[in-house]
Amino acid sequence: MAENVKFSCGCGALKGVLHDASPATGCHLICYCKDCRAFARHMGRLDALEPYGGSPLVQVLPAKIEIAEGAEHIACLRFSEKGLHRWYASCCRTPLANTVGTSKVPMAGMWCPLFESTNAFGPVVTLGFTKMALPGSGRPRKDKGLARMLGSLIKRSMSAYLSGTARQGPFFTPDGSPVAQPQIASAAEREAAYRE
Ligand SMILES: [Zn+2]
Ligand SMILES: [Zn+2]
Repeated sequence: MAENVKFSCGCGALKGVLHDASPATGCHLICYCKDCRAFARHMGRLDALEPYGGSPLVQVLPAKIEIAEGAEHIACLRFSEKGLHRWYASCCRTPLANTVGTSKVPMAGMWCPLFESTNAFGPVVTLGFTKMALPGSGRPRKDKGLARMLGSLIKRSMSAYLSGTARQGPFFTPDGSPVAQPQIASAAEREAAYRE
């Protein structure tokens, strides 16, 4: 059963709803990559990570994300010219989602701590980049569910293109420009964000 799940930034100035959330319409994952962790560190949100430095995310179709209030707080950071677009709420520096640099790929990896509840997403099915997990005896050793993640992205993308919603969402305008000019992190910011 798909549900509409509310989300909000830390201070509550930005609020929204993810429509039709279900295990079939999203991919609930934990990403252990350094870049996601650096973003959480840069935003002061390391405390929201899973053990061993995993970022809790749900990959969804951007068209399903509705920002009801505070869209003017949407900001974007990139760690490099080639890095993902990492969107956040500038009012309180809460991560929102990561996307690639174009709305042609209908994918947003939303930051799970935003949500009132993650029950609608079902259990975590994908573990990515576990090689970069922080050390410790219980750290995940193997990636899991990557084929499933890719399959779910392809399926979502195809149905979005068929229904004409592929390029919609809160992060790009209808002509495909980012709604906020991405800032590229400075060398010093990058260094601090990646220091573990
Ligand atoms: Zn806020
Ligand atoms: Zn990552």
